[in-house]
Amino acid sequence: MSRLLEAYARVAGEDVIDHLSQLAAQYRGMKVVHVNSTRVGGGVAEILDKLVPLSRELGLDARWEVITGDPVFYQCTKAMHNGLQGNPVNLEPRWLEAYEETNRHNAEQLRPILEEADVVFIHDPQPAALLGHFPKRRGKWVWRCHIDASRPYRPVWRYLRRHVSSFDASVFSLAGFAQALPHPEYLIPPSIDPLSDKNVDLPEEEIAAVRERFHLDPERPLVTQVSRFDRFKDPVGVIRAYRLAKRFVPGLQLVLAGGTADDDPEGETVISEVRAAAGDDADVHVLLLPPDAHRVINALQRASDLVIQKSTREGFGLTVTEAMWKGRPVIGGDTGGIRLQVVDFHTGFLVSTPEGAALRMRYLLNQPRLIREMGAKARTFVRENFLLTRQLREYLTLGIGVLT
Ligand code: UDP
Repeated sequence: MSRLLEAYARVAGEDVIDHLSQLAAQYRGMKVVHVNSTRVGGGVAEILDKLVPLSRELGLDARWEVITGDPVFYQCTKAMHNGLQGNPVNLEPRWLEAYEETNRHNAEQLRPILEEADVVFIHDPQPAALLGHFPKRRGKWVWRCHIDASRPYRPVWRYLRRHVSSFDASVFSLAGFAQALPHPEYLIPPSIDPLSDKNVDLPEEEIAAVRERFHLDPERPLVTQVSRFDRFKDPVGVIRAYRLAKRFVPGLQLVLAGGTADDDPEGETVISEVRAAAGDDADVHVLLLPPDAHRVINALQRASDLVIQKSTREGFGLTVTEAMWKGRPVIGGDTGGIRLQVVDFHTGFLVSTPEGAALRMRYLLNQPRLIREMGAKARTFVRENFLLTRQLREYLTLGIGVLT
């Protein structure tokens, strides 16, 4: 077994890697091409960066191609993205021209590769118009939509639908995100990479150093929420829950860790609201971290007794899975994908109000053994359902579906 597969076997389980290898054996040498529009930045690039090498290790002839365009193209695809998420945006004719022209141009560049491919995964709307330039395609083409398209702005969806209808299949992250299309649709939930800086095991000293850096007392209980400062993540509700719980757990400390938001005026407003709600409480730590602080976030999650993600709206909360993978029970908002991630009363609790969150915090913090038991179940649940290896298995299973 290669070193990469061994590394995954150590964290995901040898049986999982054996199973993957068996599944992959029937696709040995098969040409699989993933196409998106950026090599770095964003969740899609992050997943492809791991998924493609892992596929190659398993014997697939997998590759990753990136289309490129001019600023007008990106203006158009950004608007499409927002439109798919429900914002009313006007796709100007010159934008659509740039969109179609960029796809035409990239189709010519990629023709030899895409014509030869057995399976082509087109990620998100940016390269979706490539397909129209391959009338005599040999392989199967799958549209992989990572966006919550549950309530799209109709004119945008009507335009995009024309391009994606001709695919052989499409894949959405959650049932609630999907749109009806005239071909088979599959669901593959997002996953985390257990070997990334965000999720890899950390030495105890590194966790201790992060505690010290942020003045967190290792002797007292700690609850953490990691998320952008966004109202839908309800950071002010988290502070209210902490206050209510603190009456019964006097030593309680709270961390709210998120990114700085220079380019997001609403983010600044939310941070001000959070600061006002925190007041002069020295046990509420509002941490503004740079976007690449993956190991710090990893350490904060591990330094916590519990993790909270009290969102009032959420697709699939990666922070929930990240915390569960670290053996921490999660108190999560009873909404969206969190309902699939947190198994109520088993791997954490689902809550709808600050009062509910406070009650669950008290309940768990008074029972360290229960925290350990739920945390262990949380980790197992993630191992079985939400690791990159599971995502690759589902892509392979999907392969069986579209190729037969
Ligand atoms: N994250 C981060 N730094 C921050 C806040 C969040 O690295 O300051 C990460 C977090 O660990 C997770 C992702 O950003 O991996 C957020 O994904 P999630 O699905 O939880 O929420 P979204 O921001 O996509 O709504």
